[in-house]
Amino acid sequence: KHGSQEEEIHARWTQDKSGTIMTGHPVPIVLVSKDHKFELDEEALERILLQDHVKDKHVVIVSVAGAFRKGKSFLLDFFLRYMKAQPSPDWIGTDDAPLDGFSWRGGSERDTTGILLWSEVFLTDLPNGEKVAVLLMDTQGAFDSESTVRECATVFALSTMLSSVQIYNLSQNIQEDDLQHLQLFTEYGRLALADCGQKPFQKLQFLVRDWSFPYEADYGPEGGKKILERRLEVSDRQHPELQSLRRHIKSCFTDISCFLMPHPGLNVATNPRFNGRLGEIENEFKKYLQILVPGLLAPGNLVIKEISGQKVKAKELVQYFKSYIEIYEG
Ligand code: GDP
Ligand code: MG
Repeated sequence: KHGSQEEEIHARWTQDKSGTIMTGHPVPIVLVSKDHKFELDEEALERILLQDHVKDKHVVIVSVAGAFRKGKSFLLDFFLRYMKAQPSPDWIGTDDAPLDGFSWRGGSERDTTGILLWSEVFLTDLPNGEKVAVLLMDTQGAFDSESTVRECATVFALSTMLSSVQIYNLSQNIQEDDLQHLQLFTEYGRLALADCGQKPFQKLQFLVRDWSFPYEADYGPEGGKKILERRLEVSDRQHPELQSLRRHIKSCFTDISCFLMPHPGLNVATNPRFNGRLGEIENEFKKYLQILVPGLLAPGNLVIKEISGQKVKAKELVQYFKSYIEIYEG
Protein backbone atom coordinates (compact mmCIF):
# COMPACT_ATOMS: atom_id res chain seq x y z
CA LYS A 1 0.00 0.00 0.00
CA HIS A 2 2.64 2.41 1.15
CA GLY A 3 4.79 1.55 -1.84
CA SER A 4 2.11 2.32 -4.38
CA GLN A 5 1.38 5.65 -2.75
CA GLU A 6 5.03 6.54 -2.98
CA GLU A 7 5.12 5.40 -6.58
CA GLU A 8 2.18 7.61 -7.36
CA ILE A 9 3.84 10.61 -5.75
CA HIS A 10 7.01 9.84 -7.60
CA ALA A 11 5.15 9.64 -10.92
CA ARG A 12 3.42 12.92 -10.26
CA TRP A 13 6.71 14.49 -9.46
CA THR A 14 8.65 13.30 -12.41
CA GLN A 15 6.11 14.44 -15.00
CA ASP A 16 5.13 18.01 -15.68
CA LYS A 17 1.74 19.01 -17.09
CA SER A 18 2.66 18.04 -20.62
CA GLY A 19 3.83 14.63 -19.42
CA THR A 20 7.49 15.32 -20.12
CA ILE A 21 9.77 13.41 -17.81
CA MET A 22 11.73 15.76 -15.58
CA THR A 23 13.93 14.95 -12.65
CA GLY A 24 12.51 17.63 -10.41
CA HIS A 25 10.69 20.93 -10.21
CA PRO A 26 10.30 23.96 -7.97
CA VAL A 27 7.74 23.48 -5.20
CA PRO A 28 6.14 26.54 -3.59
CA ILE A 29 6.43 25.98 0.16
CA VAL A 30 5.70 29.37 1.67
CA LEU A 31 3.20 31.54 -0.15
CA VAL A 32 1.73 34.95 0.45
CA SER A 33 -2.00 35.00 -0.09
CA LYS A 34 -3.93 37.90 -1.64
CA ASP A 35 -4.72 39.26 1.82
CA HIS A 36 -0.99 39.32 2.64
CA LYS A 37 -0.98 36.30 4.96
CA PHE A 38 1.90 33.85 4.93
CA GLU A 39 0.89 30.27 4.35
CA LEU A 40 2.91 27.10 4.63
CA ASP A 41 2.13 24.21 2.30
CA GLU A 42 2.87 21.63 4.95
CA GLU A 43 1.98 18.67 2.77
CA ALA A 44 4.33 19.74 0.01
CA LEU A 45 7.09 20.34 2.54
CA GLU A 46 6.58 16.93 4.15
CA ARG A 47 6.65 15.24 0.77
CA ILE A 48 10.16 16.60 0.34
CA LEU A 49 11.56 16.29 3.86
CA LEU A 50 9.94 13.10 5.10
CA GLN A 51 11.03 10.82 2.28
CA ASP A 52 12.54 7.65 3.73
CA HIS A 53 16.02 8.28 2.36
CA VAL A 54 15.99 11.92 3.50
CA LYS A 55 14.22 12.30 6.83
CA ASP A 56 17.03 11.15 9.15
CA LYS A 57 19.84 13.03 7.39
CA HIS A 58 21.29 16.33 8.53
CA VAL A 59 20.32 19.08 6.11
CA VAL A 60 22.22 21.69 4.15
CA ILE A 61 19.93 24.42 2.84
CA VAL A 62 21.24 26.88 0.31
CA SER A 63 18.97 29.86 -0.34
CA VAL A 64 19.18 32.72 -2.83
CA ALA A 65 17.43 35.98 -1.95
CA GLY A 66 17.39 39.58 -3.12
CA ALA A 67 15.73 41.86 -5.62
CA PHE A 68 13.35 40.67 -8.33
CA ARG A 69 14.75 39.88 -11.81
CA LYS A 70 18.42 39.94 -10.88
CA GLY A 71 19.26 36.39 -11.94
CA LYS A 72 18.57 34.42 -8.74
CA SER A 73 16.70 31.57 -10.42
CA PHE A 74 19.16 31.59 -13.30
CA LEU A 75 21.97 31.01 -10.81
CA LEU A 76 20.06 28.27 -9.02
CA ASP A 77 19.77 26.42 -12.29
CA PHE A 78 23.55 26.14 -12.29
CA PHE A 79 23.46 24.91 -8.70
CA LEU A 80 21.09 22.19 -9.92
CA ARG A 81 23.42 21.26 -12.74
CA TYR A 82 26.26 20.97 -10.30
CA MET A 83 24.32 18.81 -7.84
CA LYS A 84 22.95 16.56 -10.57
CA ALA A 85 26.36 15.98 -12.10
CA GLN A 86 28.08 15.05 -8.83
CA PRO A 87 30.74 13.76 -8.53
CA SER A 88 31.67 14.60 -12.13
CA PRO A 89 33.90 17.66 -12.59
CA ASP A 90 32.19 18.34 -15.96
CA TRP A 91 29.05 19.66 -14.39
CA ILE A 92 28.56 22.84 -16.37
CA GLY A 93 27.29 20.98 -19.45
CA THR A 94 27.48 21.28 -23.22
CA ASP A 95 27.18 24.50 -25.18
CA ASP A 96 23.81 23.68 -26.74
CA ALA A 97 21.95 22.29 -23.72
CA PRO A 98 19.27 24.73 -22.55
CA LEU A 99 19.29 25.60 -18.88
CA ASP A 100 16.47 23.93 -16.99
CA GLY A 101 15.13 24.36 -13.51
CA PHE A 102 13.86 27.20 -11.36
CA SER A 103 13.77 29.96 -13.93
CA TRP A 104 12.64 28.21 -17.06
CA ARG A 105 9.24 27.06 -15.94
CA GLY A 106 6.98 29.91 -16.99
CA GLY A 107 3.46 30.45 -15.79
CA SER A 108 1.78 32.16 -12.92
CA GLU A 109 4.11 30.85 -10.22
CA ARG A 110 6.71 33.21 -11.57
CA ASP A 111 4.86 36.17 -10.14
CA THR A 112 4.13 34.63 -6.78
CA THR A 113 5.79 35.98 -3.67
CA GLY A 114 7.21 33.30 -1.49
CA ILE A 115 9.74 30.54 -0.93
CA LEU A 116 10.27 27.55 -3.18
CA LEU A 117 12.23 24.35 -2.69
CA TRP A 118 13.54 22.11 -5.44
CA SER A 119 11.62 18.83 -5.26
CA GLU A 120 14.75 16.73 -5.51
CA VAL A 121 16.89 16.36 -2.40
CA PHE A 122 20.55 15.68 -3.17
CA LEU A 123 22.34 13.20 -0.93
CA THR A 124 26.01 14.03 -0.66
CA ASP A 125 28.87 12.46 1.28
CA LEU A 126 30.81 14.91 3.40
CA PRO A 127 34.59 14.40 3.58
CA ASN A 128 34.06 12.71 6.98
CA GLY A 129 31.78 10.13 5.33
CA GLU A 130 28.48 11.44 6.67
CA LYS A 131 25.65 11.50 4.13
CA VAL A 132 23.76 14.80 4.22
CA ALA A 133 20.66 16.06 2.43
CA VAL A 134 21.21 19.16 0.30
CA LEU A 135 18.18 21.34 -0.43
CA LEU A 136 18.04 24.31 -2.78
CA MET A 137 15.78 27.24 -1.94
CA ASP A 138 14.59 30.01 -4.25
CA THR A 139 12.79 33.15 -3.11
CA GLN A 140 10.51 35.33 -5.16
CA GLY A 141 9.06 38.75 -5.02
CA ALA A 142 11.52 40.42 -2.67
CA PHE A 143 11.67 44.15 -3.50
CA ASP A 144 9.10 43.63 -6.22
CA SER A 145 7.12 46.87 -6.39
CA GLU A 146 3.86 45.01 -5.86
CA SER A 147 4.93 43.37 -2.65
CA THR A 148 4.81 45.36 0.50
CA VAL A 149 7.98 46.10 2.41
CA ARG A 150 6.82 43.80 5.19
CA GLU A 151 6.36 40.91 2.80
CA CYS A 152 9.84 41.37 1.37
CA ALA A 153 11.32 41.57 4.82
CA THR A 154 9.44 38.46 5.87
CA VAL A 155 10.50 36.40 2.86
CA PHE A 156 14.10 37.40 3.41
CA ALA A 157 13.95 36.77 7.16
CA LEU A 158 12.24 33.40 6.78
CA SER A 159 14.65 32.19 4.11
CA THR A 160 17.58 33.33 6.25
CA MET A 161 16.22 31.52 9.30
CA LEU A 162 15.52 28.36 7.35
CA SER A 163 18.76 28.14 5.39
CA SER A 164 22.32 27.37 6.43
CA VAL A 165 23.70 29.48 3.59
CA GLN A 166 21.94 32.65 2.48
CA ILE A 167 23.13 34.12 -0.80
CA TYR A 168 22.29 37.81 -0.96
CA ASN A 169 22.08 38.45 -4.69
CA LEU A 170 22.83 42.06 -5.63
CA SER A 171 23.18 43.94 -8.86
CA GLN A 172 26.41 45.78 -9.66
CA ASN A 173 27.57 46.73 -6.16
CA ILE A 174 26.94 46.60 -2.41
CA GLN A 175 25.13 49.85 -1.73
CA GLU A 176 24.26 51.42 1.59
CA ASP A 177 20.58 50.65 1.06
CA ASP A 178 21.39 46.97 0.41
CA LEU A 179 22.93 46.91 3.87
CA GLN A 180 19.95 48.75 5.31
CA HIS A 181 17.59 46.18 3.81
CA LEU A 182 19.68 43.50 5.43
CA GLN A 183 19.38 45.18 8.80
CA LEU A 184 15.63 45.35 8.56
CA PHE A 185 15.43 41.72 7.50
CA THR A 186 17.86 40.35 10.01
CA GLU A 187 16.17 42.31 12.77
CA TYR A 188 13.00 40.33 12.07
CA GLY A 189 14.99 37.14 12.27
CA ARG A 190 16.77 38.09 15.43
CA LEU A 191 13.58 38.95 17.22
CA ALA A 192 12.14 35.67 16.07
CA LEU A 193 14.91 33.47 17.37
CA ALA A 194 15.21 32.97 21.07
CA ASP A 195 18.37 34.62 22.31
CA CYS A 196 20.68 31.75 23.14
CA GLY A 197 23.88 33.75 23.25
CA GLN A 198 24.85 32.57 19.78
CA LYS A 199 24.84 34.21 16.41
CA PRO A 200 21.39 33.45 14.99
CA PHE A 201 22.43 32.81 11.40
CA GLN A 202 25.21 30.88 9.69
CA LYS A 203 26.73 31.81 6.34
CA LEU A 204 25.90 35.00 4.47
CA GLN A 205 27.30 35.19 0.97
CA PHE A 206 27.01 38.53 -0.77
CA LEU A 207 26.92 37.90 -4.50
CA VAL A 208 27.46 40.96 -6.67
CA ARG A 209 26.26 40.41 -10.26
CA ASP A 210 27.54 42.42 -13.24
CA TRP A 211 30.53 43.70 -11.28
CA SER A 212 32.13 46.18 -13.65
CA PHE A 213 35.20 47.46 -11.82
CA PRO A 214 37.64 44.51 -12.07
CA TYR A 215 40.51 47.01 -12.13
CA GLU A 216 39.41 48.11 -8.66
CA ALA A 217 38.71 44.63 -7.23
CA ASP A 218 39.14 41.32 -9.07
CA TYR A 219 36.20 39.08 -9.92
CA GLY A 220 35.76 36.18 -7.51
CA PRO A 221 36.20 35.77 -3.75
CA GLU A 222 39.38 37.84 -3.25
CA GLY A 223 37.93 40.94 -4.90
CA GLY A 224 34.74 40.26 -2.99
CA LYS A 225 36.62 40.19 0.29
CA LYS A 226 38.21 43.52 -0.50
CA ILE A 227 34.89 45.19 -1.33
CA LEU A 228 33.11 43.61 1.63
CA GLU A 229 35.77 44.74 4.10
CA ARG A 230 35.48 48.23 2.72
CA ARG A 231 31.68 48.25 2.97
CA LEU A 232 31.48 46.69 6.44
CA GLU A 233 34.34 48.67 7.94
CA VAL A 234 33.43 50.51 11.13
CA SER A 235 35.20 53.78 11.77
CA ASP A 236 34.79 56.76 14.10
CA ARG A 237 34.32 58.99 11.11
CA GLN A 238 31.02 57.30 10.26
CA HIS A 239 27.67 58.42 11.57
CA PRO A 240 26.82 56.30 14.67
CA GLU A 241 23.88 54.80 12.80
CA LEU A 242 26.13 53.51 10.02
CA GLN A 243 28.47 52.07 12.63
CA SER A 244 25.71 50.26 14.46
CA LEU A 245 24.29 48.92 11.19
CA ARG A 246 27.64 47.33 10.40
CA ARG A 247 28.08 45.88 13.89
CA HIS A 248 24.56 44.52 13.73
CA ILE A 249 25.14 42.68 10.45
CA LYS A 250 28.40 41.19 11.71
CA SER A 251 26.75 40.05 14.93
CA CYS A 252 24.05 38.09 13.09
CA PHE A 253 26.16 35.67 11.03
CA THR A 254 28.97 33.28 11.88
CA ASP A 255 30.51 33.73 8.44
CA ILE A 256 30.15 36.58 5.93
CA SER A 257 31.77 36.56 2.51
CA CYS A 258 31.38 38.18 -0.87
CA PHE A 259 31.90 37.11 -4.49
CA LEU A 260 32.08 39.42 -7.50
CA MET A 261 30.55 37.99 -10.70
CA PRO A 262 31.23 39.36 -14.18
CA HIS A 263 28.42 40.23 -16.60
CA PRO A 264 27.02 37.13 -18.39
CA GLY A 265 26.78 38.89 -21.75
CA LEU A 266 24.03 40.67 -23.61
CA ASN A 267 22.28 37.48 -24.74
CA VAL A 268 21.53 36.57 -21.16
CA ALA A 269 20.65 40.06 -20.06
CA THR A 270 18.50 41.23 -22.94
CA ASN A 271 17.48 38.52 -25.44
CA PRO A 272 13.89 37.46 -24.63
CA ARG A 273 14.35 34.20 -26.57
CA PHE A 274 17.44 33.24 -24.62
CA ASN A 275 16.88 29.76 -23.22
CA GLY A 276 19.97 29.46 -21.12
CA ARG A 277 22.17 27.85 -23.76
CA LEU A 278 25.66 27.79 -22.38
CA GLY A 279 27.16 28.72 -25.75
CA GLU A 280 25.55 32.15 -25.52
CA ILE A 281 26.95 32.95 -22.09
CA GLU A 282 30.23 34.89 -21.83
CA ASN A 283 33.29 32.75 -21.07
CA GLU A 284 34.31 35.04 -18.25
CA PHE A 285 30.96 34.39 -16.53
CA LYS A 286 31.33 30.63 -16.96
CA LYS A 287 34.86 30.77 -15.61
CA TYR A 288 33.66 32.38 -12.38
CA LEU A 289 30.67 30.05 -12.12
CA GLN A 290 33.23 27.25 -11.99
CA ILE A 291 34.69 28.91 -8.90
CA LEU A 292 31.50 30.15 -7.25
CA VAL A 293 29.37 27.00 -7.47
CA PRO A 294 31.88 24.43 -6.11
CA GLY A 295 32.85 27.05 -3.52
CA LEU A 296 29.33 26.72 -2.14
CA LEU A 297 28.36 23.15 -2.99
CA ALA A 298 31.47 20.95 -3.06
CA PRO A 299 31.27 18.37 -0.23
CA GLY A 300 34.00 20.09 1.79
CA ASN A 301 32.20 23.44 1.67
CA LEU A 302 28.70 22.36 2.66
CA VAL A 303 27.32 23.90 5.84
CA ILE A 304 24.95 21.76 7.92
CA LYS A 305 21.96 23.67 9.19
CA GLU A 306 22.19 24.44 12.90
CA ILE A 307 19.61 25.94 15.20
CA SER A 308 20.79 27.07 18.64
CA GLY A 309 24.03 25.22 18.03
CA GLN A 310 22.31 21.90 17.22
CA LYS A 311 22.57 20.21 13.84
CA VAL A 312 19.13 19.80 12.28
CA LYS A 313 17.70 16.69 10.58
CA ALA A 314 15.26 16.87 7.67
CA LYS A 315 12.33 15.54 9.68
CA GLU A 316 12.95 18.16 12.40
CA LEU A 317 12.88 20.95 9.88
CA VAL A 318 9.13 20.59 9.29
CA GLN A 319 8.48 21.76 12.83
CA TYR A 320 10.84 24.72 12.45
CA PHE A 321 9.09 25.83 9.27
CA LYS A 322 5.78 25.68 11.12
CA SER A 323 6.90 27.66 14.13
CA TYR A 324 8.76 30.26 12.07
CA ILE A 325 5.73 30.85 9.87
CA GLU A 326 3.57 31.22 12.96
CA ILE A 327 5.73 34.09 14.08
CA TYR A 328 4.83 36.00 10.95
CA GLU A 329 1.21 34.96 10.66
CA GLY A 330 -0.01 37.44 13.24
P1 GDP B 1 15.14 36.43 -10.48
O1 GDP B 1 13.82 37.17 -10.50
O2 GDP B 1 16.12 37.13 -9.57
O3 GDP B 1 14.98 34.99 -10.14
O4 GDP B 1 15.78 36.55 -11.93
P2 GDP B 1 15.85 35.47 -13.12
O5 GDP B 1 16.80 34.36 -12.77
O6 GDP B 1 14.48 35.07 -13.49
O7 GDP B 1 16.55 36.31 -14.26
C1 GDP B 1 15.99 37.53 -14.71
C2 GDP B 1 16.66 37.94 -16.01
O8 GDP B 1 18.03 38.30 -15.79
C3 GDP B 1 16.68 36.84 -17.07
O9 GDP B 1 16.39 37.41 -18.32
C4 GDP B 1 18.12 36.33 -17.05
O10 GDP B 1 18.53 35.84 -18.32
C5 GDP B 1 18.90 37.59 -16.67
N1 GDP B 1 20.16 37.31 -15.94
C6 GDP B 1 20.52 36.18 -15.28
N2 GDP B 1 21.73 36.34 -14.69
C7 GDP B 1 22.15 37.59 -14.97
C8 GDP B 1 23.33 38.35 -14.61
O11 GDP B 1 24.25 37.90 -13.92
N3 GDP B 1 23.38 39.63 -15.11
C9 GDP B 1 22.39 40.17 -15.90
N4 GDP B 1 22.56 41.43 -16.33
N5 GDP B 1 21.27 39.50 -16.22
C10 GDP B 1 21.14 38.23 -15.76
MG1 MG C 1 13.27 33.91 -9.74
